[in-house]
Amino acid sequence: MTIRNDSHGPRTKAVHAGEAPDPATGASAPALHMSSTFVTDQVAGFSAHDLGEDSPFLYARWANPTVTMLERKIAALEGTEDCLCLASGMAAATSIFLTFLSAGDHAVVSDVSYAGVAELARDTLPRFGINVTLVDMSDPAAVAAAIRPETKLVHCESPVNPIGRLTDLAAVAKLAHEAGAIVSCDATFASPFGQNCTALGVDLIMHSVTKYIGGHGDAVGGAVAGSAALIGRMRGESAIHHGAVMSPFNAWLIARGAATLPLRMKAHEENGLAVAEWLETRPGVTKVIYPGLDSHPQRELAKAQMQNTSSMISFQVGDAARGQALGQEMIDKLEVIHYAVSLGHHRSLIFWMETAGLMETSFRLEGAALESYRAYAGDGVFRMSVGLEDAEDIIADLGRVL
Ligand SMILES: *Cc1c(COP(=O)(O)O)cnc(C)c1O
Repeated sequence: MTIRNDSHGPRTKAVHAGEAPDPATGASAPALHMSSTFVTDQVAGFSAHDLGEDSPFLYARWANPTVTMLERKIAALEGTEDCLCLASGMAAATSIFLTFLSAGDHAVVSDVSYAGVAELARDTLPRFGINVTLVDMSDPAAVAAAIRPETKLVHCESPVNPIGRLTDLAAVAKLAHEAGAIVSCDATFASPFGQNCTALGVDLIMHSVTKYIGGHGDAVGGAVAGSAALIGRMRGESAIHHGAVMSPFNAWLIARGAATLPLRMKAHEENGLAVAEWLETRPGVTKVIYPGLDSHPQRELAKAQMQNTSSMISFQVGDAARGQALGQEMIDKLEVIHYAVSLGHHRSLIFWMETAGLMETSFRLEGAALESYRAYAGDGVFRMSVGLEDAEDIIADLGRVL
């Protein structure tokens, strides 16, 4: 599944990669192949072990043409040989962990990450005999100290949900590779245009394509991009055996969104910066974390590593009681922004995320790790995903409560 048109620019790839006019009908738009099985003209084996690069479509848990189209598009955007699309971002994370880790192996995982991933790494992997060390990945020395001879995977997330802390991906990739481990990065917040993970040395680039890549809040999905060898292993295990495949309908919707991703990311970044700068002027806002602001604690790393700072903002308004009260006021008064979880959609979304609750359910940080978290998040943050509406309207909406 290598990608043609390698020389084209990102906008051309977003529109065309993976697609071609239908030779039978001439249809310019990609077809939605809602077919679970495929008639073959070859008598072939029916096992994950028989799957090769040139295998015909056989059964949709192995591959479906519409899903393949999206996989080729995302691989082209990430500059990787291949990509595997799965039922959700969580399925993508599970697929990475369960394909590359076995009993007795060790993984180093970011101590702050998407809550579901944090809980999966901390609670589920040890049940299978996989040892996990949770580390503040903004500190490469901490990653170096955590790596052991049996470390097989270093999994980071940058920027990290929900606090916008960054990982120096080139530094962490170098450390992992020196130890013979694979590096995966959940790049959902950044999108494929936030940072060039491939150039930074990341082996497996993971996205919840529910977010920026799909971009319209209408379909759940996940993707992992990487070399043909690594993705081939994942396809055999996760898609064919664990069965977490993406529906062709979701792939079709998400590919339609992905076609405009470069343009949307430009607009997301512009709006994100405008809203972040406005938030910094509000007396009731005590801290704003956005990688595009000079006040971001890792602004130099953001400048060096990120080509687009996306539109995820975290901001504090004081203690937890104040955050709760303001959350309720937002539910009552916001007219444009939706008070809802998720992110990366054309609609602006905002949600209150209290530190104490997240520590109990998801992160369980103590000592220096908790201090580092609180340096970004205090008692809690409003996590805002700035959408594609007019910046003035988003700001006026926030102005109803701030
Ligand atoms: C949403 C999200 C996930 C999980 O993705 P789903 O598609 O909801 O399963 C994983 N990582 C990050 C950073 C996310 O924002």
